[in-house]
Amino acid sequence: MLIVRRASVPAALLPARPAGAHVDPLEPIVLCDVAIEGARIAAVAATGGLGLKPLAREFDAGGSLVFPAFVDAHVHLDKTHTWHRAPNRTGTFFDALTTLSHDREHWTEADLRRRAGFALRTAWAHGTRAIRTHVDTLLPWAERSHGVMAALRAEWRGRIELQTVPLLGGEAYATPAGEKLADLALRHGASALGGFLQMSAALPAQLDRLLALARERGVGIDLHVDESGNPAAECLRHFAEAVLRAQFDLPVVCGHCCSLAVQNHSRARSTIGLLHEARIGVISLPQCNLYLQGRRVPTADFPRSPLWRGLTLIHDLLDAGVRVACASDNVRDAFHPYGDYDLADVYAHSVRLAHLDSGLAESVRVVTSTAADLIGLPHYGRIAPGAPAHLVVFDAHRFSELLSRPGAARRCIDGEEIHAPHVPDFAELDDRSS
Ligand SMILES: [Zn+2]
Repeated sequence: MLIVRRASVPAALLPARPAGAHVDPLEPIVLCDVAIEGARIAAVAATGGLGLKPLAREFDAGGSLVFPAFVDAHVHLDKTHTWHRAPNRTGTFFDALTTLSHDREHWTEADLRRRAGFALRTAWAHGTRAIRTHVDTLLPWAERSHGVMAALRAEWRGRIELQTVPLLGGEAYATPAGEKLADLALRHGASALGGFLQMSAALPAQLDRLLALARERGVGIDLHVDESGNPAAECLRHFAEAVLRAQFDLPVVCGHCCSLAVQNHSRARSTIGLLHEARIGVISLPQCNLYLQGRRVPTADFPRSPLWRGLTLIHDLLDAGVRVACASDNVRDAFHPYGDYDLADVYAHSVRLAHLDSGLAESVRVVTSTAADLIGLPHYGRIAPGAPAHLVVFDAHRFSELLSRPGAARRCIDGEEIHAPHVPDFAELDDRSS
């Protein structure tokens, strides 16, 4: 047994606030002792409350912030780390799509493994222990990409829980070819059906078909929805209506949902009501949206500066009881040239961009417990008896320190082992070294 003493744990991620513990809304932490037995957390109590455990090893966290391992609910491991050979020269969504569609010819098994493997090692070093990746699911690449992700899932089992979701046009599910691609992904262990939606008169029928396919196969759905600043983009609303029409009761998640923020307010409010009724979770991808949304390509128009920054209505969704997570999305590819699979960085960006500091205590859920719930891992992302023993110990004692220095050094605790993993060197990805 390992006892972690004097850990400053985010109050929202504890099973219950220890009796008598005062939680400051600006520093919402509780000083705790955490007992770990094998791969699980055995007990959590306010510091001093666990009593003496004569045979246990002890680690004094000294009041450092201790988070449960992060959960990255939405990434693209097949596209990642292609920026050096497939950059986006205009920074627009359209160029991201076309640039990466051309890069796909380089996606050999070795190339996918090298880039995705590098990403997993990076995420691991930063303290992430569960990841859901979307995987482009087009012929002739689908079998290879899903095969590589399935192999990585097996390789990383016990360290990172790796989930996959197929990414294809939502309209494809209405065709026999699309149905085959869905089954290909599921054969390789996909956790849900997914895709990107586009407004059309056929959308309701396409969604009905997608929901029927998912129900037949007993899996949920995780979609890319309305990633634009176009108020006429209402795929989110159509999906919520379709979920309610089908009385679909498997997990449903929508990523992005940007256009919700530029719609008529009463319309947006009613769409949020539908999302709540349909129990649809939302995953916001703040950094990728910051890069792509509101970009003005060189033009004589005034102003040229970005005004619309792409966030969905996070507070209004939360107020309505809709679960919201934040995630990395694209990292170092034509959709987003930055990022490092560091959820502390994603969290700090989310807090700053979306003013999550107005509810700091609950805000930590976006990269931990809510992210875990939305991808079907309800034991992850909290520090509670029975949860997997994956902890991150920051060289920071307060939220204000971590949010000021999200790249703070950290140690990880996995099971009863304490270690200080190193992020891999970018030079490994340099084509000249291979
Ligand atoms: Zn995405």
